Amino acid sequence: METILVLAHTELDGSLAPTALEALGAAKTLQAALPDAKLMIGLAGERVGDAAKAVAASGAARVLGVSGPDFAVSRYATDAAAAEALTRSAGATLVLAAGTARMLRCLPGVAARLGGRADTHVTSLSVADGKVFVSRWYYRQRMEGTLTRAQRPWFIVVDPGSQPAWSGAPGPVAVEEVAVTLTDSARRTTVTGVRQVAADAQTIRPDAELLFVAGAGWTKKQADGQTHVPEAETLIRDFLRLTRASLGSSKSLVDLGGEGQAVLSFLSHLNQIGQTGATPRHPKGLSTCCHGEEPHTVGWRFIGERRAISLDPNCGWARGKADVLYVADAFAVLRKVNELLARG
Ligand SMILES: Cc1cc2nc3c(=O)[nH]c(=O)nc-3n(C[C@H](O)[C@H](O)[C@H](O)COP(=O)(O)OP(=O)(O)OC[C@H]3O[C@@H](n4cnc5c(N)ncnc54)[C@H](O)[C@@H]3O)c2cc1C
Repeated sequence: METILVLAHTELDGSLAPTALEALGAAKTLQAALPDAKLMIGLAGERVGDAAKAVAASGAARVLGVSGPDFAVSRYATDAAAAEALTRSAGATLVLAAGTARMLRCLPGVAARLGGRADTHVTSLSVADGKVFVSRWYYRQRMEGTLTRAQRPWFIVVDPGSQPAWSGAPGPVAVEEVAVTLTDSARRTTVTGVRQVAADAQTIRPDAELLFVAGAGWTKKQADGQTHVPEAETLIRDFLRLTRASLGSSKSLVDLGGEGQAVLSFLSHLNQIGQTGATPRHPKGLSTCCHGEEPHTVGWRFIGERRAISLDPNCGWARGKADVLYVADAFAVLRKVNELLARG
């Protein structure tokens, strides 16, 4: 009989991130397919009370908590100690967690301490003949593998955005506090602050409905023989402001910066989509001024509906990579679209 533990850390305001609710959603699906399985929730953070209330309706048999100022910040030693104590206390055989930076860093180590195994970047879970199987992608999302394991505890770290989030009404819940004794060396690393870009400058938005991709064409000479980079910047910024889309880029465009050419100032290599870039998950994608070559479009694997605007009717998008290709000037299209969006 499996005991499923959902492990989550609370945010600085005491809440649970949507990714944690996705891990809970995956655990509920698993529990439904394993009739004897017990579900438990383990929370770690400075305070866990509010997070526990938020999952009160999940049907968890026990809600366990490790709390205190030592567990507020992301730090391997304390995160691992909390995860280890919660897993032991629950007697968990399957441990599900969201693939946050915090969990990805500590859970493989915790699995080693407990003689278990960890699998990360899991995108789906299933049960066949009473056995749990997980799937993940390999070799830059080219091959999907499905595997099962006999070792327990088995830590299954699910990719954010791959699972439907659990939702339910908040309510009262009794949290069983799990004591963790920390050595001084566990507190040796201190977090002195968090540096992040201003909200307006944040162009990567994993929760956005739409991925907007800018290609190198935005910086190329146009029909009048001139480049129009400042106008491209304005059009893209306005589009992002009006739609709250997430901004992706082709490799060629982000590489131009290193070659000393005029580029869009708000792009970095973090925006790059593709074989050597990111593989984000969004319901829709719109590519602009990009050729749609395989090393780029491989990063679109998890985009639901794909559209592209390119001047080239023979570009990669036209060869089965996009659902719809608009053979058009992206400057003209975006000017018009922004005008319509601004009108509401
Ligand atoms: C090992 C390897 C790994 C790679 N990894 C990646 C990766 O991770 N991600 C990635 O993106 N690439 C990657 N590449 C590079 C990839 O093969 C392409 O070179 C790159 O994607 C091309 O970028 P692009 O389409 O923006 O630029 P270009 O090929 O220069 O295409 C620009 C396009 O813009 C169009 N255009 C110009 N003006 C307009 C206009 N006004 N309106 C509409 N369309 C216009 C042109 O018709 C053209 O189709 C990799 C390559 C290799 C060899």
